[in-house]
Amino acid sequence: MAQEWNIRPRGHVCAACGRQFEDKQQYVSALRDAEGGYERLDYCMKCWRDTPRDWEPFSFWEGEYAAPPPAAEKNEPVKKETAEDLLRDLIAKDDPEMRNAVYVLAVMLERGKQLVERDAKPHESGGILRIYEHRKSGDTFTVLDPRLRLDQLGEVQQQVIGLLGG
Ligand SMILES: [Zn+2]
Repeated sequence: MAQEWNIRPRGHVCAACGRQFEDKQQYVSALRDAEGGYERLDYCMKCWRDTPRDWEPFSFWEGEYAAPPPAAEKNEPVKKETAEDLLRDLIAKDDPEMRNAVYVLAVMLERGKQLVERDAKPHESGGILRIYEHRKSGDTFTVLDPRLRLDQLGEVQQQVIGLLGG
Protein backbone atom coordinates (compact mmCIF):
# COMPACT_ATOMS: atom_id res chain seq x y z
CA MET A 1 0.00 0.00 0.00
CA ALA A 2 1.13 3.51 -0.69
CA GLN A 3 2.34 5.59 2.23
CA GLU A 4 -0.28 7.77 3.83
CA TRP A 5 1.74 10.91 3.37
CA ASN A 6 4.67 12.00 1.30
CA ILE A 7 6.11 14.85 -0.73
CA ARG A 8 6.70 14.69 -4.43
CA PRO A 9 8.49 17.52 -6.20
CA ARG A 10 7.15 18.86 -9.46
CA GLY A 11 9.11 17.84 -12.52
CA HIS A 12 10.63 20.46 -14.78
CA VAL A 13 10.30 18.46 -17.98
CA CYS A 14 7.39 16.61 -19.58
CA ALA A 15 7.40 12.92 -18.58
CA ALA A 16 6.45 11.90 -22.13
CA CYS A 17 8.29 14.16 -24.59
CA GLY A 18 11.06 15.32 -22.24
CA ARG A 19 10.66 18.99 -23.15
CA GLN A 20 11.46 21.57 -20.51
CA PHE A 21 8.42 23.43 -19.19
CA GLU A 22 8.38 27.17 -19.76
CA ASP A 23 7.30 29.81 -17.27
CA LYS A 24 3.46 30.04 -17.08
CA GLN A 25 2.98 26.96 -19.23
CA GLN A 26 -0.12 24.87 -18.42
CA TYR A 27 0.67 21.30 -17.46
CA VAL A 28 -1.01 18.25 -15.96
CA SER A 29 0.27 16.54 -12.81
CA ALA A 30 -0.73 12.96 -12.15
CA LEU A 31 -0.14 10.71 -9.16
CA ARG A 32 -0.10 6.98 -9.53
CA ASP A 33 0.30 4.18 -7.02
CA ALA A 34 3.85 2.95 -6.79
CA GLU A 35 5.88 0.95 -4.32
CA GLY A 36 6.59 3.03 -1.22
CA GLY A 37 4.29 5.93 -2.08
CA TYR A 38 2.85 7.75 -5.01
CA GLU A 39 4.80 8.44 -8.12
CA ARG A 40 4.26 11.88 -9.60
CA LEU A 41 4.40 12.55 -13.32
CA ASP A 42 4.04 15.93 -15.02
CA TYR A 43 3.00 16.30 -18.63
CA CYS A 44 2.62 19.06 -21.17
CA MET A 45 -1.04 19.41 -22.21
CA LYS A 46 -0.46 17.91 -25.63
CA CYS A 47 1.24 14.76 -24.32
CA TRP A 48 -1.42 14.29 -21.62
CA ARG A 49 -4.10 14.37 -24.31
CA ASP A 50 -2.32 12.47 -27.03
CA THR A 51 -0.02 9.92 -25.35
CA PRO A 52 -1.68 6.56 -24.68
CA ARG A 53 -1.35 5.36 -21.06
CA ASP A 54 -1.74 1.84 -19.71
CA TRP A 55 -2.39 3.07 -16.16
CA GLU A 56 -5.09 5.00 -14.34
CA PRO A 57 -4.00 8.02 -12.34
CA PHE A 58 -4.85 7.97 -8.63
CA SER A 59 -5.35 11.71 -8.97
CA PHE A 60 -4.55 14.41 -11.52
CA TRP A 61 -4.95 18.15 -11.91
CA GLU A 62 -3.90 21.03 -14.11
CA GLY A 63 -1.40 23.61 -12.98
CA GLU A 64 0.64 26.50 -14.27
CA TYR A 65 4.38 26.05 -14.27
CA ALA A 66 6.44 28.72 -12.53
CA ALA A 67 10.11 28.71 -13.48
CA PRO A 68 12.38 28.39 -10.44
CA PRO A 69 14.02 31.65 -9.35
CA PRO A 70 17.67 32.21 -10.29
CA ALA A 71 20.13 30.48 -7.92
CA ALA A 72 21.23 33.78 -6.33
CA GLU A 73 17.78 34.36 -4.84
CA LYS A 74 17.85 31.02 -3.06
CA ASN A 75 20.49 32.16 -0.55
CA GLU A 76 17.96 33.33 1.96
CA PRO A 77 19.22 34.27 5.41
CA VAL A 78 18.84 31.59 8.08
CA LYS A 79 15.45 31.93 9.71
CA LYS A 80 13.69 30.11 12.49
CA GLU A 81 11.81 26.98 11.64
CA THR A 82 8.61 27.75 9.81
CA ALA A 83 5.45 25.69 9.64
CA GLU A 84 6.52 24.56 6.18
CA ASP A 85 9.97 23.40 7.37
CA LEU A 86 8.33 21.53 10.20
CA LEU A 87 5.83 19.88 7.86
CA ARG A 88 8.65 18.72 5.57
CA ASP A 89 10.64 17.39 8.55
CA LEU A 90 7.70 15.49 9.98
CA ILE A 91 6.81 13.95 6.63
CA ALA A 92 10.43 12.91 6.11
CA LYS A 93 10.53 11.26 9.56
CA ASP A 94 7.41 9.25 8.74
CA ASP A 95 6.45 8.85 12.41
CA PRO A 96 2.85 7.59 12.81
CA GLU A 97 2.64 9.46 16.15
CA MET A 98 2.94 12.71 14.21
CA ARG A 99 0.12 11.97 11.81
CA ASN A 100 -2.30 14.44 13.37
CA ALA A 101 0.34 17.16 13.61
CA VAL A 102 1.16 16.69 9.92
CA TYR A 103 -2.47 17.23 9.03
CA VAL A 104 -2.90 20.31 11.24
CA LEU A 105 0.26 21.86 9.75
CA ALA A 106 -1.01 21.25 6.23
CA VAL A 107 -4.29 22.97 7.10
CA MET A 108 -2.38 25.93 8.59
CA LEU A 109 -0.36 26.26 5.39
CA GLU A 110 -3.47 26.02 3.26
CA ARG A 111 -5.07 28.82 5.25
CA GLY A 112 -1.86 30.80 4.85
CA LYS A 113 -2.22 30.30 1.07
CA GLN A 114 1.12 28.50 0.80
CA LEU A 115 -0.57 25.24 -0.13
CA VAL A 116 -3.58 24.70 -2.33
CA GLU A 117 -5.73 21.58 -2.11
CA ARG A 118 -5.80 19.71 -5.41
CA ASP A 119 -7.75 16.59 -4.59
CA ALA A 120 -9.28 14.55 -1.77
CA LYS A 121 -9.90 10.81 -1.75
CA PRO A 122 -11.50 8.54 0.81
CA HIS A 123 -8.89 6.45 2.64
CA GLU A 124 -9.28 2.89 3.95
CA SER A 125 -8.58 4.13 7.51
CA GLY A 126 -11.85 6.09 7.42
CA GLY A 127 -9.95 9.34 6.96
CA ILE A 128 -9.46 11.37 3.82
CA LEU A 129 -6.30 11.50 1.78
CA ARG A 130 -5.77 15.13 0.79
CA ILE A 131 -3.41 16.22 -1.93
CA TYR A 132 -1.93 19.68 -1.55
CA GLU A 133 0.34 21.50 -3.95
CA HIS A 134 2.82 24.16 -2.90
CA ARG A 135 1.90 27.36 -4.72
CA LYS A 136 5.46 28.39 -5.49
CA SER A 137 7.54 25.25 -5.83
CA GLY A 138 4.74 23.01 -7.10
CA ASP A 139 5.75 20.23 -4.66
CA THR A 140 2.94 17.82 -3.85
CA PHE A 141 2.11 16.98 -0.24
CA THR A 142 -0.06 13.92 0.30
CA VAL A 143 -1.53 14.11 3.80
CA LEU A 144 -4.02 11.93 5.64
CA ASP A 145 -6.87 13.90 7.18
CA PRO A 146 -7.66 11.74 10.26
CA ARG A 147 -10.99 13.55 10.73
CA LEU A 148 -10.17 14.81 14.21
CA ARG A 149 -12.90 15.57 16.66
CA LEU A 150 -13.02 19.14 17.91
CA ASP A 151 -11.54 18.22 21.32
CA GLN A 152 -8.69 16.32 19.62
CA LEU A 153 -8.05 19.25 17.33
CA GLY A 154 -7.30 21.60 20.23
CA GLU A 155 -4.77 19.11 21.62
CA VAL A 156 -3.00 18.71 18.31
CA GLN A 157 -2.91 22.47 17.77
CA GLN A 158 -1.14 22.79 21.13
CA GLN A 159 1.31 20.08 20.09
CA VAL A 160 2.05 21.90 16.83
CA ILE A 161 2.52 25.26 18.58
CA GLY A 162 4.96 23.52 20.92
CA LEU A 163 6.89 22.02 18.01
CA LEU A 164 7.09 25.40 16.24
CA GLY A 165 8.27 27.19 19.37
CA GLY A 166 10.76 24.63 20.58
ZN1 LIG B 1 5.19 16.57 -23.59
